[in-house]
Amino acid sequence: MADVPDFTLRRVRALDETGGFTDPVDVRVAGGRIVALGAGLPADRETPDHDFDGTWLLPGVVDVHVHAMTHSHDPAELLRTPYSYRVAETLSALRRTLHAGVTTVRDAGGLDAGVRDALAAGLADGPRTQVSVVPLSQTGGHGDGFLAGPGLDLSVDYMIPDHPGRPHHLADGADEVRRRVRENIRAGADWIKLMVTGGVMSGGSGNFDEQFTVEEVTTAVHEASRRGVPVMAHALGGPALTNAVRAGVRSIEHGVWLTEADAALMAERDTTLVPTLVVYRQLADAADAGAVPPTVADRARAVGAVLGEAVRVARAAGVRIALGSDFAHRDQHGRNLSEIPLLHRAGLSVEEALLAATRSGAELCGLADETGTLAVGRRFDAIVIDEDPGDLSLFEHPGAVRGVFRAGEPVLPHVRWSARCREAATV
Ligand SMILES: [Zn+2]
Repeated sequence: MADVPDFTLRRVRALDETGGFTDPVDVRVAGGRIVALGAGLPADRETPDHDFDGTWLLPGVVDVHVHAMTHSHDPAELLRTPYSYRVAETLSALRRTLHAGVTTVRDAGGLDAGVRDALAAGLADGPRTQVSVVPLSQTGGHGDGFLAGPGLDLSVDYMIPDHPGRPHHLADGADEVRRRVRENIRAGADWIKLMVTGGVMSGGSGNFDEQFTVEEVTTAVHEASRRGVPVMAHALGGPALTNAVRAGVRSIEHGVWLTEADAALMAERDTTLVPTLVVYRQLADAADAGAVPPTVADRARAVGAVLGEAVRVARAAGVRIALGSDFAHRDQHGRNLSEIPLLHRAGLSVEEALLAATRSGAELCGLADETGTLAVGRRFDAIVIDEDPGDLSLFEHPGAVRGVFRAGEPVLPHVRWSARCREAATV
């Protein structure tokens, strides 16, 4: 890793634990961590000051649902792309994601432990990464991209490419589920991902039906928890969602048709909802523009018609809501923060939306002591913006984030930082 400088940022408005911003304060960083935060910190000879007056400082964003390994929705293109090219494009996407202000990601399927570990070793520039490796699906379920013509087994239309050491994606019956969970953990999974209902992008004309039996889901959670690995469930609604929460999954991905009873159960079990609004908005718009196949278009419109309801239901019940973009295309990676204004429009206050983008994801990922808040002792994962976030619509624009620190390292140096460095270089 690069050498991390010690420094003090002067007069920033910092996001606090309520989701609001402080009056201008100083933030001192040493060894990549916040060591002091408050108004008028005394000067320290050893630590250079950077005047950040007029800027806003937030914790680095935590995106708990990305598919960093996928860059196109065209199965033919994905099939023709060599695996090494996919890895190279993935590193590029992760770099863009980091520079957009996302300092931590949880990959929801596709990314393997090798990329995670290469990033951690500093071989490439990207966020801190947790991986779920290969999502598990029942035969004919949401993750099954079976091609009937050649009779080929493909995971989610080849969004998740085959490569040496990759666990198989299909599991039927408790014994096979147990084995696939063990294979994923052997492959380095931080999370186990289960597809428990259909999805908009499912193959064929199926609807959002229940997939996996209660016994299969329970077995997966039990087996994973024996190894200290949490489980996340792709679930749009219905009894499969309820059963997944009862079985003990830590997060419900999408949850489009979340009921009040589901939300009450999630609040009781401390299960997080990851609503992934931005990708569904894009799919619904693509359906209206005739840009997706008819079966996908029907499902995209059905989701678009109720989009955001789940956020209101979850909020009313006190369910933790975390930002997840579900991005899986080269045109999407790096625009992750566009989920923030949609969370606000779906019913979260400005403050709640900012906490959903930062603290909630850190809590879900077990990293609350490390990142997601600006407090003494935390790693300095932080982003700088040059205007009051107001109604949050600035996050619709790529480039809203003007500076990014990852564990104290200025990976996207803010102009104020660069000016200070240029000054220092000419002395
Ligand atoms: Zn996804």
